[in-house]
Amino acid sequence: MPSTCKRILVTGGAGFLGSHLCDRLVTQGHDVICVDNLFTSQKSNIAHLLGKPNFEFIRHDVTHPLWLEVDEIYNAACPAAPGHYQYNPIKTMKTSVLGAINVLGMAKRCKAKILQFSTSEVYGDPTVHPQPESYRGNVNPIGPRACYDEGKRAAETLFFDYQRSNRVNIRVVRIFNTFGPRMHPYDGRVVSNFIRQALHNEDITIFGEGKQSRSFCYVSDLIEGIVRMMNGPDDFIGPVNLGNPDEFTMLELAQKVIALTGSKSRLVYKPMPADDPTQRQPDITLAKSKLGWQPTIKLDEGLKKTIEYLRSIDITQFRAPTPNY
Ligand code: NAD
Ligand code: UDP
Repeated sequence: MPSTCKRILVTGGAGFLGSHLCDRLVTQGHDVICVDNLFTSQKSNIAHLLGKPNFEFIRHDVTHPLWLEVDEIYNAACPAAPGHYQYNPIKTMKTSVLGAINVLGMAKRCKAKILQFSTSEVYGDPTVHPQPESYRGNVNPIGPRACYDEGKRAAETLFFDYQRSNRVNIRVVRIFNTFGPRMHPYDGRVVSNFIRQALHNEDITIFGEGKQSRSFCYVSDLIEGIVRMMNGPDDFIGPVNLGNPDEFTMLELAQKVIALTGSKSRLVYKPMPADDPTQRQPDITLAKSKLGWQPTIKLDEGLKKTIEYLRSIDITQFRAPTPNY
């Protein structure tokens, strides 16, 4: 173990992003505790870590308090795909708000540093493009995405209030659409959906006319940014945008996936979901200047790795967490 070995809690650590973060921290020799209720993930994401002496898994729901002694906390527990967070919207809000209160209380008691996985959804359907951290957003507080967007906004508020009132050492990152291996094949997010559909020569479901845009960050780039933020100076607490500024329409994404998989899938058009943001692109000036961070993996390269992963798994071993995928 390195002399800088820390006891680190990762909530949501069995999920897509959380499991990649656990990999990174375990490899660095830290003592990692992964807490997850496995709502949208499965143990296979962390199976390779379970036998390691510096990794342990606790099945626990973050809406309930938990007593641990740690030096750092990464708070990633929350369903992230629209079909998952809209399945039980009240639970989603509880996970963001009660989950944040519980881990912030732990950070206060242990004097631990704590980083919140916030989201570009705090900007809602943005009227400013690209989105800088100073933009306060355009969120519909009563729409179907509000349980997630407003829950994450309230969590940011709690983080800053614990920092101001209780001197908790916080970090907040606003993550833009991220993709890669270990995305749940039935999470309904656009990258996993299009690849799953393409690999099975099923119709590719374009919502609306497919002109809405997103900017996709590959998972290894994102994890690098998150770890840099946690380990950065205490006077830079965020919020900071982390994402890849290369922006694509959903039609462009579908065409790329078809070309890279050699699929015979056809494009079919489905109704646009309510409050679906029309455009999204991170302004990463702050991350570049404060963290020396920017993404390095292009969309095509990341898609190839994700296609390889989704081709390699036995899809029958994955249960759809909700009927909304
Ligand atoms: P994910 O669904 O794979 O991971 C979330 C994890 O949290 C899952 O393992 C799930 O079982 C767990 N979880 C959910 N509710 C819980 C609860 N009440 N108690 C304990 N565990 C619970 O999704 P992800 O993409 O890995 O997202 C991880 C975090 O990053 C989330 O907080 C999400 O809001 C944030 N984020 C992700 C993206 C992205 O593009 N992937 C973008 C913005 C923000
Ligand atoms: N989308 C789509 N077809 C799908 C799934 C999603 O066209 O099968 C669109 C969706 O309407 C949205 C974009 O892809 O405009 C990104 O959706 P995702 O759920 O991945 O993320 P989010 O909307 O939260 O950014």
